[in-house]
Amino acid sequence: MPRRGGHWSRWSSRQTVGVYKGLLFDLDGTLLDHRAAANAAITAWLEARAPGHPRLAEAAASWEALEEPHLAAWHAGECTWQEQRRRRIVAFCREFGLDVPGDLDTAFASFAAHYRRNWAPYPDAAAGVATVRGLRLGVLTNGGQTMQEAKVRAIGLEGLVGPVLTGEVLGGHYKPSPGAYTGAAEALGLAPEEVVLVGDDIAKDVLGPAAVGMGAVWLDRHAAQPGPDGFPRITSLTELSLVIRL
Ligand SMILES: [Mg+2]
Repeated sequence: MPRRGGHWSRWSSRQTVGVYKGLLFDLDGTLLDHRAAANAAITAWLEARAPGHPRLAEAAASWEALEEPHLAAWHAGECTWQEQRRRRIVAFCREFGLDVPGDLDTAFASFAAHYRRNWAPYPDAAAGVATVRGLRLGVLTNGGQTMQEAKVRAIGLEGLVGPVLTGEVLGGHYKPSPGAYTGAAEALGLAPEEVVLVGDDIAKDVLGPAAVGMGAVWLDRHAAQPGPDGFPRITSLTELSLVIRL
């Protein structure tokens, strides 16, 4: 039975119940359906730029594949937030045989406008947040501060999920850097052991927090198998009360 701070007891043969004072939500893929919004946005962007493009159906997957490496370069301090956006537009245009736009910032802004229009919460987000409202809450996310705050506002959770914490307010530490978790716990006025993180990414939302003694719950929305051993797993935020004693 894992013992990672707080008090643990066996809830069933597969789940453990943890007691915490604070809870951090991941944002993209956890509260907001980032993938659906980004997929719709890049498809609309390509359709507007190159109507009838024969590879339109591949746009979403290609754009997704560009996200992580370019965001990682920004997190590592290798480029600015705006520069990683420009690089993604250039890479995408080359891959799809499009002329690279002269004004990359305007081109990205066009994508971003489509993206914002498609921001939507998961159907279980509000109910999941309501379940844990007795805890000190926060959002620990790797995006840009202003954009992530706008997302929380757009999905109706502003004022309900506590502060939005990105690397920009955590000394440049992004998940899965240990400083992201310790800084976020500190922002809630708690020790890492008193906090649990709930999110969809195993490296950033489960193994990362566990490495600093923080609790972790894996949100496996797609019911994928197998998951990491020894961690509570839920498939909907409405199941939070099953793995966190409130
Ligand atoms: Mg996520």
